[in-house]
Amino acid sequence: MPPPEMLQKPVVGVLLPLPLAGAYDYKLPAGGNAARGGLVSAPLGNREVLGVVWGAAEGTVGDNRLKIAEPLEGAPSLPPKLCDFIDWVADYTLNPPGAILAMALRSRGAFEPEARRIAYVRGVVTPPRMSAGRARALEVAGDGLARSVTGLAEDANVSPAVVRGLIQAGALVPTELPEFSPFPPPDDSFAAPSLNDDQAVAAQALRDAVAARKFSAHLLDGVTGSGKTEVYFEAVAEALRHNKQVLILLPEIALTVQFLERFAARFGVRPTEWHSDLSQKERRRAYRAVMNGEARVVVGARSSLFLPFPELGLVIVDEEHEQAFKQQDGAIYHARDMAVVRARIEDCPVVLASATPSLESFVNATGGRYSHLRLAMRHGAAELPRVKLIDLRQEKDPHDAEHKAQWLSPPLREALERVLAAGEQAMLFLNRRGYAPLTLCEACGHKFTCPHCSAWLVEHKYKRRLACHQCGFELPMPSTCPQCNQNGTLIPCGPGVERVAEEFAAFFPAARYSIASSDILHGPAETQAAIRAFARREIDVLIGTQIVAKGHHFPQLTLVGVVDADLGGSDGDLRARERTFQLLHQVSGRAGRAEKPGLVLLQTRNPDDAVMQALARGDRDGFYEQERGFREAAQSPPFGRLAALVISGYDGETVREIARQLGKTAPSARDVKVWGPTPAFYALLRGQTRERLLVQAARGVDVQAYLKAWLPQVKVPAAVRVTVDVDPVSFF
Ligand code: ADP
Ligand code: ZN
Repeated sequence: MPPPEMLQKPVVGVLLPLPLAGAYDYKLPAGGNAARGGLVSAPLGNREVLGVVWGAAEGTVGDNRLKIAEPLEGAPSLPPKLCDFIDWVADYTLNPPGAILAMALRSRGAFEPEARRIAYVRGVVTPPRMSAGRARALEVAGDGLARSVTGLAEDANVSPAVVRGLIQAGALVPTELPEFSPFPPPDDSFAAPSLNDDQAVAAQALRDAVAARKFSAHLLDGVTGSGKTEVYFEAVAEALRHNKQVLILLPEIALTVQFLERFAARFGVRPTEWHSDLSQKERRRAYRAVMNGEARVVVGARSSLFLPFPELGLVIVDEEHEQAFKQQDGAIYHARDMAVVRARIEDCPVVLASATPSLESFVNATGGRYSHLRLAMRHGAAELPRVKLIDLRQEKDPHDAEHKAQWLSPPLREALERVLAAGEQAMLFLNRRGYAPLTLCEACGHKFTCPHCSAWLVEHKYKRRLACHQCGFELPMPSTCPQCNQNGTLIPCGPGVERVAEEFAAFFPAARYSIASSDILHGPAETQAAIRAFARREIDVLIGTQIVAKGHHFPQLTLVGVVDADLGGSDGDLRARERTFQLLHQVSGRAGRAEKPGLVLLQTRNPDDAVMQALARGDRDGFYEQERGFREAAQSPPFGRLAALVISGYDGETVREIARQLGKTAPSARDVKVWGPTPAFYALLRGQTRERLLVQAARGVDVQAYLKAWLPQVKVPAAVRVTVDVDPVSFF
């Protein structure tokens, strides 16, 4: 007889992947394993929900009223450290833990055993009744290969019924195919590079950190083209030698193609991919391979942070300054910050890599909280490009009637001419999609705006449409003004990349060019094609938005022209200057990455602005120091803390009323200020009215505790949503 305690049904808290307040109590079957992370099927109402044993029961529900959660047969558990991470993220972002768990359980099917794959081989029995078809099938099967029913039917040119008849007769026997493994292990010594001195020092520091098998944070801070990727690959190799798994976070899927090939060149095989473009089946496979340790290195977008690594030994965040790491919908979190948290919980190193770190990381590194690994020079012969400002105020009439030049100033055109004559490549950069950001009626002043958003409609000339970049609303390009009904009075205002391309083509009719723009109307495939064509030198000039700014390596690119360097500089949000600097620095960094020197021309109307000056002088650290000074004086992040509330809903009056109530009930606390409510920048978005409140607090304030004390005071109707954004990076 087993001891009596084994027969008792343990009661545990089970977390469901739903936005509920917390874990619910359930009974496990007698002797059931109550360890944290166990997967169960839990009854909820009249359905069965996948859940996870989270911890001790609360005990508020009487034992006899508890339902039984059945452990999933044969399924592995979630690593307990992942459960800890989920709790941490939930707490920090003020989301229910179940909402975070939902992100970690995205691939439902992964917990069911993979369907067995059966194929057939020739058995020893010869069927009593033979036919020409049967004979042919058995002859083909005689080679000993295992085939599926349809496979054999095809190879032998018979109907599947013939094959099935042979199976029934026992002439073909089933055999189970081994599970196909698409995740061969990377080889740490496949093609180790020879590093230059700076690189070797940084690589050694990272290898030591991996070997130490404990938490440490590193800022790999190197100019564009200095070999940051080569260096952190050495840390990856070290983790592989220690039998640890590695997670590499990239800001965008668009970057991964080149990256995967580069990884394969170093390690012999591609890493495991994780992003939203995977099919259900690929997802399931990848998830399972991470969980059972088959996938050693995962490259993914921010959601890969929630994968169930049982033995994570290194986390890398490449282009760590990228805003794309901030998830803005659903549970709002910053993947770079949470990557540091995950590494701390896993007790392993985290490497943040960038040529233009976020000010937060820069302050952490220069203040000694992170190790600061610097690569000051480009690898090999490549020099950093020369940056020159073109003062648009000084340039002759930009509306020069003869040439009709509007966006490409004479010095920029001359430089383009030189580059094209020399057979080199150029890039024109403008961070604006479409043809023109605003369409205006010359006669009555009517501006085309989105009916669902407080945003202008952007003209897309190739598609002959006006489009809202916020919600995707589209309209065929009208020929008459809807307000005054006059014909031919609509004029495009300002440039987008299409318009710059039009002007470029007028000046350089023989040059080959393409537009690369992450566009609802262009599509990622077209953009990828343009970038590949540029890399293969099938085109001379790439005209693009910020999609061309990052990560790409074009050896023949010697000129970068920034059409409007002032864009985004005057947004007024606290990171506008930092972002402008980062973006322009990254774009500039595309130039001159091989032997030929690069030139960057920035067209600006504010050449004396500190951002422009820092870019022209190549004084990155000077810019960061100045920016640090501004932030410190204003007590803004990272020297103070922010949290934003966005109140949204279809009924504007209710939204404003709830926002007012929140404003009135904000508790007064030391070192906390609450601003607002005010209409958000997009006061109307996808038909919803939006109001904002901003909490500004000193660094030591527990902002989460403050919000938890405040928010429950206002009863929010179901038709209104209050979104909490801790450490906001966008102020729209
Ligand atoms: P970053 O990530 O800092 O911009 P990369 O790692 O992309 O720099 O390196 C820039 C280019 O220089 C790449 O083509 C890379 O292969 C090459 N490179 C860097 N370091 C080395 C090295 N030690 N040996 C050979 N090539 C290198
Ligand atoms: Zn819209």
